[in-house]
Amino acid sequence: MPYLTMIAVLSVLLQFTAVIFALRLIPLTRKAMAWTLLSIAFLLMASRRTIDLLFGQNIFQDPVIHNYSTKTVALIISIFIVSGVYFTKRIFEQQKRDAEQLRKFCMAVEQSSSATVIFTPAGIIEYVNPKFCEINQTTAEQLAGKKPGFLTTKCTPQSTLNKIWNRINIGGTWKSEFYNKDADGQDFWSRAVISPIKNDKDAITFFIATFEDITIEKRQQQAIKELSLHDNLTQLPNRKLFHNKLQQAIEVARTGEQMLAVLLLDINNFKAINNSLGHLAGDVILRDIANRLNHISQQDHSHTLARMGGDEFLLFTTNTSHDKTTELASQLYQSISQPFYVENRNFELSANIGYAMYPEHGDSAEKLIKNADIAMYAAKGSSRNIIKYSPSLDDGKLKRLELSSHFRQAAMDDEFVLYYQPQMDFKNGRIIGAEALIRWLHPEYGLLPPDDFIELAEQSGHIYMITEWIISHALQQLAEWHNNGHDIQLSVNISATDIQNPELVSLLETEMIRHKIEPAWLKLEITENSLMLYTSQTTSALSRITELGIAISIDDFGTGYSSLQYLTKMPVTHIKIDKSFVMQMLISDQDAVIVRSTIDLAHNLGLLITAEGIENQETHDILEILGCDYAQGHHLAKPMNNKAYMNWLSLFNTQSTVMNSATVPA
Ligand code: C2E
Ligand code: CA
Ligand code: CA
Repeated sequence: MPYLTMIAVLSVLLQFTAVIFALRLIPLTRKAMAWTLLSIAFLLMASRRTIDLLFGQNIFQDPVIHNYSTKTVALIISIFIVSGVYFTKRIFEQQKRDAEQLRKFCMAVEQSSSATVIFTPAGIIEYVNPKFCEINQTTAEQLAGKKPGFLTTKCTPQSTLNKIWNRINIGGTWKSEFYNKDADGQDFWSRAVISPIKNDKDAITFFIATFEDITIEKRQQQAIKELSLHDNLTQLPNRKLFHNKLQQAIEVARTGEQMLAVLLLDINNFKAINNSLGHLAGDVILRDIANRLNHISQQDHSHTLARMGGDEFLLFTTNTSHDKTTELASQLYQSISQPFYVENRNFELSANIGYAMYPEHGDSAEKLIKNADIAMYAAKGSSRNIIKYSPSLDDGKLKRLELSSHFRQAAMDDEFVLYYQPQMDFKNGRIIGAEALIRWLHPEYGLLPPDDFIELAEQSGHIYMITEWIISHALQQLAEWHNNGHDIQLSVNISATDIQNPELVSLLETEMIRHKIEPAWLKLEITENSLMLYTSQTTSALSRITELGIAISIDDFGTGYSSLQYLTKMPVTHIKIDKSFVMQMLISDQDAVIVRSTIDLAHNLGLLITAEGIENQETHDILEILGCDYAQGHHLAKPMNNKAYMNWLSLFNTQSTVMNSATVPA
């Protein structure tokens, strides 16, 4: 009996403990607590009642059971309640941990710098975090029930969207960059990870997508890319970008059966500007050129302009015609012809333009640029400034390439020949000398005029080698004439780049000593442009030449951009007015005025003046009246080789002696 009493007491204690546990662990309200207590009491009472009932019906016959079962049942119930409370406690603890985790997760998602969206397998938004709302400039309420923008935008191709769905629907994760437009229509890039969320049964219930705004990063990348596709100096597209755009434009032209033109513009003599004024001034002019061309280019959205490098610019124009392209080319040409103002001075530049048409002259960007280049080179070697490509020009280009690789050999093999064009003194009608003009007796191409190779030699860096040949042979010839009793002078043309060469003066000295040449027999012709470009170096080189006693003449005067101020500073002795004015002076009043004022100007500065390009007697007579000093031109004689010149000279001298003896009374 005491044993049973102990069990009973234990049972009551257990029940009591269980109740205490339940009350402490279960976060119940007072009302709930009362209900719990009542339920437990009811449970105990019900159990007791049931047992009594069962005993009342003599279901349990065993007296032991009969005596003790009530207490035993109570004990079992107590054990159940205690273990129930224990497990309830475990469950509540787990739930608490889960709730804490969920709370942390929610906070993390809510405060995350990554935009997060949770959407259903049907693509309907279930949840968006504040960052998502911020970058989409909207609210969670506005987005609820809608589809996320990145899945509906037209910025993402349908094929990509299909791929995304296919992947995430089978439980995979999709990582990618998305391009979109924000609410203001601005470009917006994001890096996204889309993953499925599965339930316990491994079924996909939601998808979660996190986005990172990478617009700034993308813009920086684009800026770097842009930089590599643009020319630093002019900000124009570079050759690479031009090439890409041109290739795309060709495809469009192909589909639309339209014409397209590629124009290549090259500035003449730009190297000389850099050499004389320095690269900074050269850059200023290049930017100015780019602005002028860009101004024309921007007038029509079908034009695309680029700087190819150096002083070369490329432009392509779509949906064009032959006439439209010619007009555009001359517009570009004219824009360069206007003077450039740098360092308080005006400079005049000229350009050569070559162009090629799609589809006539090529159907790829490379081919069209190459053919425009061939046409541009053809323009350089001709009197025309703008030339359209034609297959026949290819030969010219090949010829030029071939020529430039043979200069050295030509000089060694004496393939060059000097021709001489006489110069006459207006005052007494006597031949004072001649101008030496080079030709190339090419074994394959025959006699090539200097216009076919001098500029090429200048550009390819071979000119000084040719000048060495010229000076050596011209001085040898001059010595021979004097040895044969001809008291005549010789004018030798010196290229712009030659004056820069520090060896030029010593070469002249050496050759003069070698051939025993009096300095008074020699004159150097230097073009007006080269004189004005190489300022300080030119002045010192020219001073040293004049110190040797050699006369210097400014060639092609009137075509350059010299100023009076410069002219007076240069140690020059002669001016040679350009033949273009002389040849036109009978038909152009303007040219006549230029010729007259140049003669006056030269005389006012104490310089002697030669007129070249005199083609008829009338021009000759007017120049004589205007007081020009020396005459040169086809009217007197065309350039000729030494033998012909000697024959011509003796004939001329004989005739003038006859004429003089006829007019002068004995
Ligand atoms: P430039 O120095 O102005 O030479 C005068 C050019 O005008 C020569 O052409 C000559 O034949 C041409 N000419 C002379 N009188 C008349 C005329 O009445 N009517 C016409 N229509 N033309 C006339 P060329 O010999 O073909 O020389 C062309 C240019 O080649 C020269 O122009 C010069 O710049 C350059 N050149 C010629 N020889 C040399 C040389 O030895 N060295 C260098 N560096 N350049 C040279
Ligand atoms: Ca000349
Ligand atoms: Ca000339």
